[in-house]
This record gives sequence, C-alpha cells and structure tokens, in this order.
Amino acid sequence: MLKKQNLLGLTQSKFKEFFSDLNEKPYRTKQIMQWIYHQGINDFDDMHNFSKDLRQKLNAIASLELPEVISMSNSRDGVIKWIIKLGEENNIETVYIPQKDRGTLCISSQVGCSLACTFCSTGYQGFNRNLATHEIIGQVLIAQNHLSEENMRISNVVFMGMGEPLLNESPVYDACEIFLDDWAFGLSRRRVTVSSSGIVPALMRMSDKVPVSLAISLHAPNDKLRDILVPINKKYPIKELMKACHYYLNAGTQERHILFEYVMLEDVNDSLENAKSLSKLLNFWFEQESAKVNLIPFNPFPETQYKTSKNTTIQKFQDVLHRSGIRTTTRRTRGDDVDAACGQLAGKVLDKSRRHAGRN
Ligand code: SAH
Ligand code: SF4
Repeated sequence: MLKKQNLLGLTQSKFKEFFSDLNEKPYRTKQIMQWIYHQGINDFDDMHNFSKDLRQKLNAIASLELPEVISMSNSRDGVIKWIIKLGEENNIETVYIPQKDRGTLCISSQVGCSLACTFCSTGYQGFNRNLATHEIIGQVLIAQNHLSEENMRISNVVFMGMGEPLLNESPVYDACEIFLDDWAFGLSRRRVTVSSSGIVPALMRMSDKVPVSLAISLHAPNDKLRDILVPINKKYPIKELMKACHYYLNAGTQERHILFEYVMLEDVNDSLENAKSLSKLLNFWFEQESAKVNLIPFNPFPETQYKTSKNTTIQKFQDVLHRSGIRTTTRRTRGDDVDAACGQLAGKVLDKSRRHAGRN
C-alpha cells in the first residue's frame, strides 16, 4: 500500500504545491493550516469547509499523524517531559519549561547526536537518525494539545533537546518556517532559537535562509580546551566559528544577537583565567549589544566524570564577565528530578555510529 504523506511537515509553500497537484485552489492552504494549528484538528473529516470529495482524497493519500507518546512526567518545579517514540528502539525527549512570563518548549532535532561532546548525555548515546519535519512539528503539537487543556501555552521554542539542528538542515529550516508562519504557530523570530555547537558552513546558510535567534554552545575560550569538550571544534575552530557568527549578525535586515552558552564544569573550564579569556575573546569579536553569555550549571548523568561548578565559582566567573561589559545570565537548573534538565536528555538511541560498541 502507498505510504500516506504526513502533511504536518509541510510549509505554506509546500502546501500550495500539494493542493495545486490536486487541482485545488490555493486558499485551501490557509484553511488547512488554520484547522491544524489554530483549531487543533487532525481529522480531515472535521474540516467542514472542505468538500466531501476533497476529504475523501485527503484520507486516501495523506495523514496528520502525531508520533506516539510513551510517557509524560511532571517535575516538582512544573517542568513537563515527554518521551516520544520514533520507531523501534528510538525515543526522543521534549521538555516544557514554564516561567513567569513565558513557556519554553525544548525540542529535539535528531535521535541521539554524532558530535560526542564529552559533557553531554545525548552525545554519549551515539546517533541513529535525523528527524523529519513532521516529527519536529509533532513534538510541538503534542505539547500544545496537552498545555491548552491546562490553560498554558508555548511562547518560545528552542532547539536545545537531543541532536545538533545544523546537521539536519532542511527539516529544521522547514520547521522554523512553520513556527514563524501566522497561519501556523505565529511565533516571532526572537522566540524561536536554534542552538548549535558550531557547524560553520551550515551556520552561514542558516544566516541567509531563516530569520531565527541563535545560541552557540561555546563552553571554552580557547581551541585547546574546546577541542576536548566539543570535538567538532577540531574541524571548525573558534576563529572560524567567530567569523560565521559575524556573518550571522550581519545577515538579514533586522537587528540580531547571539547567546553564547557555557556549561560550568568544576576545575575544567571555570577558572578566573578562563573567565578573563572568554571576556577577551567576546570583546574582541563583538559589540557589547550583540553577544550575551548564558552560564549553564553542568547537569550530571550516570556515565559522567564531570562535576558541577560551585555556586560561588559561577558567581565569580559571572562577575568577571560583567565587569568587562558582557551581559551574562546563569541558567537555573529546572526539571532535574525527572532528568529533563539540559544535557540530561538521553531518550533511547539505537546507536548506528557504534561509538560505544566496545563498551556495551
Ligand atoms: N546540539 C545543540 C543543541 C542541543 S544541546 C548544541 O550543542 O547546542 C543544548 C544545550 O545543552 C547546549 O548548550 C549544550 O551544550 C548543553 N548541554 C549539553 N549537555 C549538558 C549538561 N550535561 N549539562 C548542562 N548543559 C548541557
Ligand atoms: Fe550533540 Fe549538542 Fe550534545 Fe554536543 S551538546 S553532543 S552537539 S547534543
């Protein structure tokens, strides 16, 4: 039997092509997107302004299927974590973080990650496959369906779950387009963030193509240390990355900023020397308003040797950055009692990279 096309992955322009192939009028696109994204309808038979004939056609060739939810857990501090099944032995995780003035959904872009950053649980799991656009969008719809029942809403979407979004470009860019589309989620570009460990050529492409916010996982102020923590640095060292960041800042018509993420690992990258080198690096490359630092207390996971920096160390590190004029915040750890904190997302990955073949 012909596999039905999942329409959740279609951007506005792809929907237009889809309906044109069916000899339907272009206005069907707005109608169907509003049914799906504004009314939460996922059954073609409930789309009353579609003719019976069109509904039958859609039922025969297309679907609006969401991935299967394996579990949903609520942490003490209001964080919600979904484990979502994407085929045999492959689960991903999606996390909702409620804050006073917003609700952030942290979504995954890959099953696992091939980049093996040494402090990251996802990296430790190895890599299986990229997500399709409908699987990325599916995470947001699953969360939205649940949250709307509780009168909560998603105001921000961040690609900070499992995977490296810039190693899965087309599906991630299409998903971003759907997040920004007023006929779909209608989020502003400031509220959609791609977080990347710095895949330089992809970052340049993204800069031109998708007007979303950018977070860069820096984690070290020099190549020697970054080569160890973020091994992709050997391919795209800091200087190349900084040039690509500049490219991002100057592309597009609106004002742009970059958030630099820096995980705080005790006695590894948290010395005052490290803080001074980081300020020097960022002040050399960026105007004050365009770069911001977010210090992330390390979230431990079973296989790790690293420890979280002490609060006093983080505070001193932050002071050095502040004194040099760099806006710096420290991320509060949320959801760690259900393993939903940054970098604790392990999902379940049938590792195809066989990174741990010797160990398992
Ligand atoms: N691959 C992308 C996005 C997913 S990781 C990236 O690396 O940016 C999202 C963020 O969580 C990144 O900044 C990452 O460095 C951070 N992170 C990973 N493991 C962590 C851990 N154990 N504790 C705290 N932050 C972690
Ligand atoms: Fe992959 Fe990001 Fe984890 Fe590095 S930190 S292994 S890039 S998910």
